[in-house]
Amino acid sequence: MFPLSSHDVQKGHASPVDLRSDTVTLPTQEMYECMRHAPIGDDGLDFDPSVRQLEETVARLLGKDQGLFVPSCTMANLLAVLAQTDRSEQVVLESTAHMFTSERGGSTFTGLFYLGVPGQRGAMDLNEAEDALRGGKHKLKTGLLTMETSHNNAGGTVPSVEHMAAVYRLSEAQGVRVHLDGARLFNAAVALKVPAAMVAAHADTVSVCLSKGLSAPVGAVLVGPPDTMEKARRLRRMLGGTQRQAGIMAAAGLYAVQNMVARLSDDHERARLLSNRLNQLGLPFSASLPETNIVQVDISNTGRDSATWTKNLENVGLLVRPWGNNRLRCVTHRHIDEGDIQWAVDCFRASMVMAAH
Ligand SMILES: *Cc1c(COP(=O)(O)O)cnc(C)c1O
Repeated sequence: MFPLSSHDVQKGHASPVDLRSDTVTLPTQEMYECMRHAPIGDDGLDFDPSVRQLEETVARLLGKDQGLFVPSCTMANLLAVLAQTDRSEQVVLESTAHMFTSERGGSTFTGLFYLGVPGQRGAMDLNEAEDALRGGKHKLKTGLLTMETSHNNAGGTVPSVEHMAAVYRLSEAQGVRVHLDGARLFNAAVALKVPAAMVAAHADTVSVCLSKGLSAPVGAVLVGPPDTMEKARRLRRMLGGTQRQAGIMAAAGLYAVQNMVARLSDDHERARLLSNRLNQLGLPFSASLPETNIVQVDISNTGRDSATWTKNLENVGLLVRPWGNNRLRCVTHRHIDEGDIQWAVDCFRASMVMAAH
C-alpha cells in the first residue's frame, strides 16, 4: 500500500500522486452542470447546437473562420493532413513531433510519406525545413508542413512566435500549407503571455485538445479556412468521427476553453517547483527546467533504467511515465497542488535512498 502522508490524511484518502499526464484530469462540477443542461441535437443529421457553439467559439479564440469538433486530437491532426494533401505527397514534420512519433500509424491510411526533419527543443531546423519544402526532381512534392506547440516530446517546450512565423513564411513561399498540432496550444499561449490567436496565426489549420490540462472529458477541435473545414467535415464522416448528441461532450469543452485556460499558469508554476526541488536534492538525477507543465527527469546516472524507476516510485506512491530508457516524464495538472509536489519530491528521494541499500 501507499504510505500515508499528512497531506493524504488531509485529503482523506491514501492514493498515489498521479503525474503520468494531464489527460488524467476529471471534469469539474461546473462541467457536469453544463453537460446536464446543454441544448443538444443530432450532429450527424443536421446539427447539435452545443457542438456548433463550441466550434464557433474555438475558431474565434484562435482567429480562424470555422471549427470542427472531433473525438480526439489524433483525429483532428489526421483530418488536417487529409484535407490539405493529395496522395503520394509528403508531410514535413519535426522528427520528434507527436504526429511523427505517435500518430504515424495514420499515415498508413493516407498514401502519404511522413518526412521527419531535425529540430531543437521542438523547433524545426529552418535550413532542413526549406530543403524538405523544395520538392526537387527526385523528391516527393511536399503537401503539408506541421509544427507543434507546446512540444510534447521536447518536454513541453514552446517554440518562439518568431520561429513559427519564419517557418510559416518559408512554407508560404513554396506554396505549402501549414498545420499546427496545438494539443497544448493554450499552455503555450499562457507561457508566452500572448493571446492564443497570436500563436495560431502562423498556421492555416490548428488542432487543440480539450481533454488535457483543460480538464474536459473528451474531444478536440480543428480550426481553419472554410473550404478546408468543409472537406475535413466530409472526411470526419468517412472516418466515423461524426457523433450524434455530441453536445453533451462539447458543452464541457466549451466551459473548458472559456474558464480553464488562465489557471494553466498554476500547473506551470508547480512544474517549476517540482523541477527546482528535485534539482536541489543533490541526488544523481536531473530535472529539466520546464517552460510549461512537463518536467523530464534524466536518470541516466542513477544506475537504474526508467522502467525500474517507474516501478519503484509507484511502490512509494508516485505515478510517472518512462520516456525512453533514461528519462521519466512528470506532468502537472489541476489535481496536483503544492503538497503533491512535495510528496513527489519525497518519493524521488525515498526511492533513490532505498535503491542505495
Ligand atoms: C496528446 C497529444 C495528441 C493527441 O491527442 P488525443 O486527443 O489523445 O488524440 C496530439 N498531439 C500532441 C502534441 C499531444 O500531446
